Amino acid sequence: MKILPAAVEKLIEAFEKLPGIGPKTASRLAFYLLHVPQHELDAFAQSVHNIRLSTVICSRCCNVGETDPCVICSSPERDTKVICVVEQALDIVAFEKTGKYNGLYHVLGGSINPLANIGPDELTIDKLISRVKSNTIDELILATNPDMEGEATAMYIRRELKTQNSKLKITRLAHGLPVGADIEYADEVTLGKALEGRDDF
Ligand SMILES: [Zn+2]
Repeated sequence: MKILPAAVEKLIEAFEKLPGIGPKTASRLAFYLLHVPQHELDAFAQSVHNIRLSTVICSRCCNVGETDPCVICSSPERDTKVICVVEQALDIVAFEKTGKYNGLYHVLGGSINPLANIGPDELTIDKLISRVKSNTIDELILATNPDMEGEATAMYIRRELKTQNSKLKITRLAHGLPVGADIEYADEVTLGKALEGRDDF
């Protein structure tokens, strides 16, 4: 005998696929939604439906936006000679909040993680390399997360780029960020300090 209605079970399964959500939280969320008015549920479903349909990935930096190129790549006020390399588009929001950075970005789409079968080819590293090759770049800031995967990714990118252009200035975020932290969750002051104190890498 099945205790839960199929619709509820289906939603629980959908929630469980989201990062950071276990079976308990998934059940709690599904049951919470049972008490939400239908029009709010419709609006929620519509937002989920539109999230990919109404956005586009920038063909230059792989940021998510409403236009291609994205608002940052198409802004005449940005310094096009500096590229800050981040793991995910959400990290850009964190850097923009510091108000201390005016260059461009490059979104890798994750970090090298052999355990999860993510190698360099699964990321946008090739695109970054050709971007650096075909544009005048003064500095590349490697702003991957200060964890094992982020460090490995930064080291890989540095090696690839240095073999092609040994004079390219490559920096890495420095002090302020705790080891194992997520850039996405860093506060503005900490992230601003880390950006200012970046080192040659
Ligand atoms: Zn862009």
